Amino acid sequence: MSLCMKIHEYQAKEVLARYGVPVPRGRVATTPEQAVEVARDLGGRVVVKAQVHAGGRGKGGGIRVVSSPEEAAEAAESMIGTRLVTFQTGPDGIPVRSVLVEEAVEVVSELYVGMTVDGAAEGVVVIASAAGGVEIEEVVETSPESVLSVAVDPVLGLQPFQARRLAYGMGLAPALIRPVSALLDGLYRAFEDNDCSLVEINPLGATADGRVLAMDAKITVDDDALFRHTGLAGLRCPEQVDALEAEADEHDIKYVKLGGDVGCIVNGAGLAMATMDMTTAAGAAPANFLDIGGGTDEVKVAKALTIVMSDPDVKRVLINIFGGILRCDVAARGFLMAADEMPDAVRPMVVRMLGTNAGEGRSLLAGSDLNVTLVDDLNEAAEAIRALG
Ligand code: GDP
Ligand code: MN
Repeated sequence: MSLCMKIHEYQAKEVLARYGVPVPRGRVATTPEQAVEVARDLGGRVVVKAQVHAGGRGKGGGIRVVSSPEEAAEAAESMIGTRLVTFQTGPDGIPVRSVLVEEAVEVVSELYVGMTVDGAAEGVVVIASAAGGVEIEEVVETSPESVLSVAVDPVLGLQPFQARRLAYGMGLAPALIRPVSALLDGLYRAFEDNDCSLVEINPLGATADGRVLAMDAKITVDDDALFRHTGLAGLRCPEQVDALEAEADEHDIKYVKLGGDVGCIVNGAGLAMATMDMTTAAGAAPANFLDIGGGTDEVKVAKALTIVMSDPDVKRVLINIFGGILRCDVAARGFLMAADEMPDAVRPMVVRMLGTNAGEGRSLLAGSDLNVTLVDDLNEAAEAIRALG
């Protein structure tokens, strides 16, 4: 499984502008003084936007429309150096180091366009809606008929007729059909060229004189492709990422924090996904996705467990190891090492171990003073996890 890297809105807008996507005039500022300067250059009303790797800034106080350079400085001052909390961040928020100062555009409507890799469609899917400016997930709930999508043939790319079909389907004013189709074309080329996993413009502002402008821009890039996009790779910003995710990344462990309370530790991405499905089927919710990955020794296994145990939401841990290159005894020693390191953080564990040296691994765990339930298959694992709930 591959993970992805987010970049800031101002960086995303720079990328998109190179593909002909119209963006408001503006520049990034890291101090109130710089914000004044940019606001003066732009003249008149500007928007000051906190640059963080999370959406929901509008509702979280991270976006302010102001009418003078002095107010822009004030807005910048109130944001830079703080932590912004939105519904997409944890309760501690993420640090704001810079703001984007942009001309405040007057728009008559806010649209939505986005692209993502859709596993079911086996390719890129383009999503568009005339109901922009709110979370697309919300629009899908409340008015699903207003959300359009087309699947792109990976060989042919986004075809002009597909872009037009979306533009007409959105019910746009005739003057906007051409600019929106052209924008979708640029967006798709940006997506392809940069190996993105998501590109989203929400809102896409439509002006009274028939132009469209990307008022917001979100780009995430497939981690596994970053080696061929060194410019983008340089934009990685560990500080913006969940601390545990950043630590996992450092140790080459694939870890994604989720909302539940079952910490999961698995070797192999497919097995990890199956384990999460099984957890959900058992009426429990995974606290994370974790694939220990290859090149694994005792120390890396220990790291995986300490990362999971560092998550305060974890109440129980489910370990599913298929011993191949990673021998089960090595895995077991790693778990014991982690328990030694963080004795107060140890949670009840359900362990399924199969494969190379499984017997040895299981006896190491059974002989320890850990609260371990050893199971043989996934059904038993589900039962045992439920019993710990
Ligand atoms: P998000 O909340 O993190 O997705 O941040 P957005 O960049 O989407 O901004 C949130 C909202 O602020 C948008 O839906 C707009 O309504 C408003 N906004 C953003 N930029 C501008 C702008 O240039 N002019 C005006 N008038 N409103 C803006
Ligand atoms: Mn937005």
